[in-house]
Amino acid sequence: MVLVVGGGYVGLYTALRLQKRLSRGGAEVVVVDPQPHMTYQPFLPEAAAGSVEPRHVVVPLRRTLPRCRVVTGAVLSLSHADRRARIAPVEGAPYELSYDVLVMAAGSVARTLPIPGLAEHGIGFKSVGEAIYLRNHVLARLDAAASTDDPAVRTRALTFTFVGGGYAGIEAFAELEDMARYAVEHHYPRLSPSDMRWVLVEATGRILPEVDLDMAAWTVRQLTARGMDVRLNTRLEEVADGVVRLSDGDSFASDTLVWTAGTRPNPLLAETDLPLDERGRVRCAPTLQVSGLEDAWAAGDLAAVPDLTKDTPGATTAPNAQHAVRQAKRLADNVVAVLRGEEPRPYRHAYAGSVASLGLHEGVAQVYGVKLKGWPAWFMHRAYHVSRVPTFNRKARVVADWALASVFRREVIALGQLQDPRREFVTAAGLVPGRPGAERMQAG
Ligand SMILES: Cc1cc2nc3c(=O)[nH]c(=O)nc-3n(C[C@H](O)[C@H](O)[C@H](O)COP(=O)(O)OP(=O)(O)OC[C@H]3O[C@@H](n4cnc5c(N)ncnc54)[C@H](O)[C@@H]3O)c2cc1C
Repeated sequence: MVLVVGGGYVGLYTALRLQKRLSRGGAEVVVVDPQPHMTYQPFLPEAAAGSVEPRHVVVPLRRTLPRCRVVTGAVLSLSHADRRARIAPVEGAPYELSYDVLVMAAGSVARTLPIPGLAEHGIGFKSVGEAIYLRNHVLARLDAAASTDDPAVRTRALTFTFVGGGYAGIEAFAELEDMARYAVEHHYPRLSPSDMRWVLVEATGRILPEVDLDMAAWTVRQLTARGMDVRLNTRLEEVADGVVRLSDGDSFASDTLVWTAGTRPNPLLAETDLPLDERGRVRCAPTLQVSGLEDAWAAGDLAAVPDLTKDTPGATTAPNAQHAVRQAKRLADNVVAVLRGEEPRPYRHAYAGSVASLGLHEGVAQVYGVKLKGWPAWFMHRAYHVSRVPTFNRKARVVADWALASVFRREVIALGQLQDPRREFVTAAGLVPGRPGAERMQAG
């Protein structure tokens, strides 16, 4: 039995290929993931901005992998020496699962820092739930600002703070501002785009490390021209009583704090006996086999895979979708090769570049040395990602979303009840906090 831990980029693509290449009745493939779907993360900023329906940026595992066993749950720990994993299903007691071959593909988690107030007030941007929440939250802040005469409440509601200037942070920042500006211009006569304050804080001297410095500088100029505030060489120091304090001495009230300052390998790895490097990633051979092991494999954000295209000793592939999807295919082919008694082949891929969207019809791209800005880059971003999102079904739905959005006006309605759907019913039922029964209802 092949155990695939994680059904994200690497997990889904590996299982898809194993499902195709292993004969029926051959090795069973079991995919374990806390979510019943794979998330196509590069579309999360567009899902947050409402250009793509959030359901269309996820790929259902059970439907896509009919010949695999999908377990909705989390792997808690793993002993490869015993070939056993401990699994916590969504409901019920944890149990042990034995396997023969391991594919470790549990990805990464947000890399946070012990900044006072961050855990209480911040939100990450890695899941479809966070994208939906942020979309509703930003639109609800516009509603709040438009419905009050209190200047302090209005300023706080209209101040949006992002931390981290990689592609996830910049795309989320730019896409959400684009959506909010559209909403304010078309539906909030009491507000003006200049009432909003969008602040992005980046600790280093540049944003978008995936593109050349001139492209990153162009992006900063582009965002600044839109009235957005990009602070380089600046850190978030503290969040207290809704007030954000920065290392440059500035502080301001802000209802929104989005943390996109990098990722770290899934902490699950610390609960395994797999060899880890100094950054907590699984040490891998170029074949994607875990160092020193024949029947354990790893790839994607949690794996330290030697980059054979670079001369620098110790260079490893970057944590991005481009490598994840290619590594998954090589990994699956290598698993099949080893099961058939053949030699596995090394993974080699030279990074082609990066595309990022900065809102409707705005983007920046650098692919195979070709630099594009504005509309051509945005078009390339869409063309590239629609070609990459798994399954024809998802491609068709995403294209249909774009087509509809180009004909009709953008949907900019806050579904506020999504954030707390039971509140109205609980109130109607007369359950108020502190009264008997309220705790049970809230826990349910
Ligand atoms: C907003 C955003 C935008 C991005 N845009 C781009 C882009 O434009 N281009 C690009 O190249 N890359 C982009 N990336 C990065 C890219 O998405 C990742 O590099 C890629 O998803 C890594 O694949 P993975 O399989 O290693 O991890 P994931 O795709 O994150 O998959 C990991 C899976 O493991 C599951 N899991 C977690 N814990 C457990 C557990 N204990 N047990 C079982 N399963 C578990 C998770 O639920 C998840 O499904 C973006 C990322 C984000 C967040």
